[in-house]
Amino acid sequence: MSIQVYIDGKFMPKEDAKISVFDHGFLYGDGVFEGLRIYNGQIFKFHEHLERLYESAHHLLLKIPLTYAEMEAATLEAVRINNIRDAYIRIVVSRGVGDLGLDPIKCDVATVIIIVDGITLFPQELYDKGMDVITAATRQRRHDTVEHRVKSLNYLNNILIKLEAAQAGRLEAIALSTEGYVVEGSGSNIFILDKKGTLITPPVYVGALEGITRNTVIDLALEHGMKVKESLFTRHDLYIAKECFLTGTAAELIPVISVDRRLIGDGKPGEVTKKLIDIYRNYAQNNGTKVL
Ligand code: PMP
Repeated sequence: MSIQVYIDGKFMPKEDAKISVFDHGFLYGDGVFEGLRIYNGQIFKFHEHLERLYESAHHLLLKIPLTYAEMEAATLEAVRINNIRDAYIRIVVSRGVGDLGLDPIKCDVATVIIIVDGITLFPQELYDKGMDVITAATRQRRHDTVEHRVKSLNYLNNILIKLEAAQAGRLEAIALSTEGYVVEGSGSNIFILDKKGTLITPPVYVGALEGITRNTVIDLALEHGMKVKESLFTRHDLYIAKECFLTGTAAELIPVISVDRRLIGDGKPGEVTKKLIDIYRNYAQNNGTKVL
């Protein structure tokens, strides 16, 4: 059976799930979204994702036509209707239908879309062997332009960074800030392990999304007695790091073994990274909101 997509209160088969070409989400990338994961019938960090969705919308003066409780119920219903135990959920709230001008005030009601679909994961080989990445020439936007904690539909900057990775024959590229500090991947946060054994991730104010996986990794690492700090660092720190990994909802933690052809550590996924991958997987698979 085709997956059922929720659009503005109705479920419809994927083939019929269409929105107006006058929706400002389509015309201008005006809207917000979330990507969540279901492990074994349980939604991981459900409230953290919904909270970020509502905070992003609040920043953009975008009124979500569902209360938090209604959004929660609609998402649960979407998961139950599709009955997929291991899946990805995409919630999109776009500004809604307006005229061709960009004025959002002319859009009466925001469009709400919930998609529950199978998840495409990186091959296991990448977790075992690690990933080669580059740093992108495209800088991440400054935080005093569009704030990065807003998870908006406007992802062109990230797309340019992803294209650079593809052009270089890599799966991912790391963005730097305009001052040259390491920020994040095109769709992931970054951690390094320095020579003193401290895990370091850039503070979100440098221009990173406040990733839910990132925050979970920080909490789990601290619980397991590791040293963690949020601190600015440069490409040099990245090149001389003992270990490096990327984090995101779909990918979880992925080891990075080279950056711009400089080997990280001995060029193999590090011990701390491997330990955190296991700790995270075990936690994510057992700590969600039960739905199915
Ligand atoms: N940074 C960016 C730019 C992202 O789009 C994402 C999510 N795909 C992340 C980081 C990771 O965030 P999370 O752990 O909440 O999925």
